[in-house]
Amino acid sequence: MEYQVLTPTLVTAFEAIVGPAHVLTAQTVEADVYTDYGRDHTEDFHFAPDVVVRPANAEEVSQIVRLCYEHHIPVTPRGAGTGLSGGALPIHHGVVLSTERLNKIIEIDERNLQATVEPGVVTEVFQNAVKEVGLFYPPDPASKGSCFLGGNLSESSGGPKAVKYGVTKDYVLNMQVVLPTGDIIWTGANTLKNATGYNLTQLMVGSEGTLGIITRIVFKLLPYPQQNLLLLAPFRKETEAAAAVSAIFRAGIVPSGLEFMEREAIEWSSRYLNIPLSLPEDIRAHLLIELDGQDLDQLYKEAEAVYGVLENYDVDEILLADTAGQKDDLWRIRRNIGNAVRYNSVYKEEDTVVPRAELATLLQGVKEIGQRYGFNSVCYGHAGDGNLHVNIIRGDLDDEMWNHGLQEPIKELFRLCVRLGGTISGEHGIGLVQKPYIGIALGEPQLNLMRGIKQVFDPRGIMNPGKIF
Ligand SMILES: Cc1cc2nc3c(=O)[nH]c(=O)nc-3n(C[C@H](O)[C@H](O)[C@H](O)COP(=O)(O)OP(=O)(O)OC[C@H]3O[C@@H](n4cnc5c(N)ncnc54)[C@H](O)[C@@H]3O)c2cc1C
Repeated sequence: MEYQVLTPTLVTAFEAIVGPAHVLTAQTVEADVYTDYGRDHTEDFHFAPDVVVRPANAEEVSQIVRLCYEHHIPVTPRGAGTGLSGGALPIHHGVVLSTERLNKIIEIDERNLQATVEPGVVTEVFQNAVKEVGLFYPPDPASKGSCFLGGNLSESSGGPKAVKYGVTKDYVLNMQVVLPTGDIIWTGANTLKNATGYNLTQLMVGSEGTLGIITRIVFKLLPYPQQNLLLLAPFRKETEAAAAVSAIFRAGIVPSGLEFMEREAIEWSSRYLNIPLSLPEDIRAHLLIELDGQDLDQLYKEAEAVYGVLENYDVDEILLADTAGQKDDLWRIRRNIGNAVRYNSVYKEEDTVVPRAELATLLQGVKEIGQRYGFNSVCYGHAGDGNLHVNIIRGDLDDEMWNHGLQEPIKELFRLCVRLGGTISGEHGIGLVQKPYIGIALGEPQLNLMRGIKQVFDPRGIMNPGKIF
């Protein structure tokens, strides 16, 4: 699609809406600050925006979007830029609309166990704020210290606690959205039930900034679970660790976190963080298992049941983390695997997901495909959800292999996921980088429906163009 060129008159109009300090161009800010608005955490991609606009409220967002709609200028909504599928990359240049100033927690409603927030609130800041009043917001992407709630909704993000508590979509009740025309709507109601027409709230979830800009969110909350236990189980075979995952659930236990880490994943991350961890030579993978609730005695019973299940596998000595510091270190190691891998090498992350009992077959398939095509992968992820992050390491792969040669093995990998009853993204979205593969998971009838929905919301194709399909 052809777009109009951004004119100085439009830049002046944006300045009149948000104030000159919040309209950034390559000429007005330092190069590295500006460059960051053209990146996210996806490989080493960069696309320069023509302008970055930082509105402070929905009314300002609406005025900017309306101008872009009238003048046919692409708009790329941006949260914290931690996305792993390239959703926030302004591939058609135009306006990057940053939500960083929409960062207020408007209300924590203790009577209804709800909260109203703006989309630029950092996930962990929100979790801590509700915890102060004894409440719990479970969705916890490993990037929770920097990613935004609006980004989480737009990617339908998960995290370790999804296995027991569900993902971001399970906590949103209502959203205020600026549509690509500039109109402002609420998608639902602040209620736990809603059977009033199509579910626009869930349609917005995971729409990756292609249908509108989320400017306010109403979340439901839970009482905070006061107790937890954390176990680290080392396995001598990766596939045994993967197979143990579904056995834990079959024994009637629902952990609040069940994470898989291959040896390289845990090793690279502990080194990256400078947290010493001694790993016996023969250990190939770990499961990090968290149990939570209100009653510690009950949790110890569950931990014993987990030990009972793991006895059936080739497991070394299981560590029960008993201090807050030890628990924190283990979770930091887990949460920083992505950063550690990135520190070691450029990588492509495939966000594979299968029914959890198929995890071992998926893992075996990943390694077999890697051997055949000559690439290394570091695998880790939310095993309790059957969600395995396959990090294909660039290492010394040449340009031809990196840019073209990996397409076939990635297709094979995704076909395997679909054959096993899974799909090609569990929580990172399609964005830019998984776009060529979406047809493996969805047929033309489904894709046509989605294209039709996009057309209804965004008839001029200005909102995050070039993403998903
Ligand atoms: C180290 C690391 C660990 C991670 N761990 C996890 C994990 O455990 N689970 C997980 O699910 N993800 C994880 N991620 C991926 C990423 O953090 C999530 O996708 C996150 O939700 C993105 O949020 P963001 O604010 O950075 O969004 P961005 O990257 O800025 O944007 C993501 C998408 O959302 C759109 N968008 C952003 N804000 C809005 C808005 N207000 N309205 C409309 N569209 C909007 C953008 O256009 C883009 O398409 C991880 C990333 C890193 C780097």
